Amino acid sequence: MSRSIPILMYHHVASRPAGVARLGGLYVTPCQFTHQMSSLRLAGFQGLSVSAAMPYLRGERRRGRVVVITFDDGFVDNLENGLPILRRFGFGATCFAVSPGVGQCREWCDGPLMDPNQLRAWRSAGMEVGAHSRTHPYLTGCSEAELRYEVEGSRADLEQILGEPVTQFAYPYGDCDARVADAVRTAGYQGAVTTRSARVRPGEDPFLLPRVNVNGRNPLPVVLYKIFLSSVSGVPGRGSFRPLSPSQ
Ligand SMILES: [Zn+2]
Repeated sequence: MSRSIPILMYHHVASRPAGVARLGGLYVTPCQFTHQMSSLRLAGFQGLSVSAAMPYLRGERRRGRVVVITFDDGFVDNLENGLPILRRFGFGATCFAVSPGVGQCREWCDGPLMDPNQLRAWRSAGMEVGAHSRTHPYLTGCSEAELRYEVEGSRADLEQILGEPVTQFAYPYGDCDARVADAVRTAGYQGAVTTRSARVRPGEDPFLLPRVNVNGRNPLPVVLYKIFLSSVSGVPGRGSFRPLSPSQ
């Protein structure tokens, strides 16, 4: 049987601003991020974007040890702090961006988001841009028209900015059900990630990919334990259609 593959979920690569408590775990400092990437490298792992990892996630390719690196929302600190570290280790990654200038910054958004030029800079550096809706809603509560606006619209927005196909999607808050997953599939994406906590068993549904959240409050050994050893691996998705954490 194929080895399970961790898709890591990050939000910020930055020091936690003073006064941020509720979403504090979403901040991984550049120092922590460096140690995490370095540990993966030393363990013989290659960090990949979701699209680059698709042959592994589908179970079509098995050679080598891969870990998938993702960032949600599209914060500027991903570009300013995360990118130099990724490049240092020769890793790829996917940033799931909310359409620039469309969504209002609400409770999910606690920092500046990349503008079109910054998204292009991220892409030019060899990283992937995926879509994360236009306004970051709970998609299961959307009408059909709203769902199309968010899922197809965000893809069109980013494709116009980047001038190339955008093929990966991340459900805001991890909120999805069969109807939402179907809308993402129908919109022409090739895969989508959730916030269900598990490693991917190669061959499982590419539109319901689980991830491993990297919490900035956890010390390195705990992070590595969650990535490689925790028993969440391979547990079928009990409750996989519902968000596990409202903060993501
Ligand atoms: Zn988000």
